[in-house]
Amino acid sequence: MEIKTKDISVIIPIYNESTNIEELYNRLKNTLSKIVKHYELIFVNDGSKDDSLLKLIDLSQQDSNVFYVNLTRNFGHQIAVSAGLNYCNAETVVIIDADLQDPPELISELYAEHQKGFDVVYAKRRKRKGETLFKRITAKLYYRILKRMVPFEIPLDTGDFRLISKKVVKALQHMPEQNKFLRGQIAWLGFKQSYVLFDRASRKKGKSAYTYSKMFRLAIDGITGFSDKPLLWVSRLGFLISFFAFLLIIMAVISHFILERTITGWTSLIISAAFLGGIQLLSIGVIGEYISRINRNTINRPLYMIETTNVKLDKSL
Ligand code: UDP
Ligand code: MG
Repeated sequence: MEIKTKDISVIIPIYNESTNIEELYNRLKNTLSKIVKHYELIFVNDGSKDDSLLKLIDLSQQDSNVFYVNLTRNFGHQIAVSAGLNYCNAETVVIIDADLQDPPELISELYAEHQKGFDVVYAKRRKRKGETLFKRITAKLYYRILKRMVPFEIPLDTGDFRLISKKVVKALQHMPEQNKFLRGQIAWLGFKQSYVLFDRASRKKGKSAYTYSKMFRLAIDGITGFSDKPLLWVSRLGFLISFFAFLLIIMAVISHFILERTITGWTSLIISAAFLGGIQLLSIGVIGEYISRINRNTINRPLYMIETTNVKLDKSL
């Protein structure tokens, strides 16, 4: 039997979202059935510890548009979405969070914008509700810094909620890097991009699985994956500090031999030693981040492992 290409495929990463699945499914179904004839929902279960998987299997048995891909353990949000991209078969693909922070109804607007001829239509947050001040400020700051560090246009205030065309999905499959930062990869790819504004609601039920340490990881991957600037800064800083050290040496020599005054001062000594030690450790850390990236990519392990799925088609590399 030939597998038919759908109009829209929606990829939904799932980690402990049991309480959200039903409402999410209903709202997606309502929205999609209004705009296209053939669609599929691809739920990627990212090692949930609740009964999310059972609910997904249940749905897939009731509705032939529903598919699940069950990963062998928790691989993280970006990898779950990447797995979904290898299992979808449609002209356009929408990536959406399961916790209803991204309103499924917005897909009609994303699709309408896509039909004007855009290959990437991202959903740009006008407001973010229900998130801590700390998260809002760090996210805002982060994207603005990242934008200055990369040589291509990176959209501000957007997550992974977006629509991409088949062309973009194909291109992404040729970017098999390990430390995924999808929104960076898609921005790097270029193509015709547009956006739709929306107010981001707070999480419907359950709690965020994105801990600060996972957020920090993602932030570092975003930078190291697309910019070599930190390495440049570190070496410039090294030059600058060596230059000052050189001046200090000359000053010390002059004051000892010519002015015949030896500089005393334990405090200045210890402060500068501590300062230099800190800078050195930080620099080694920055270099380490890049080395770990090289390491992970040379090991060349698959991104994820699949335990079970009801999708017939596997496009994974
Ligand atoms: N998620 C996932 N794996 C993880 C963490 C999260 O698949 O390890 C999914 C989660 O189920 C949701 C989406 O990724 O669909 C976004 O996660 P979350 O709402 O926890 O992140 P936040 O909105 O707080 O950044
Ligand atoms: Mg969320």
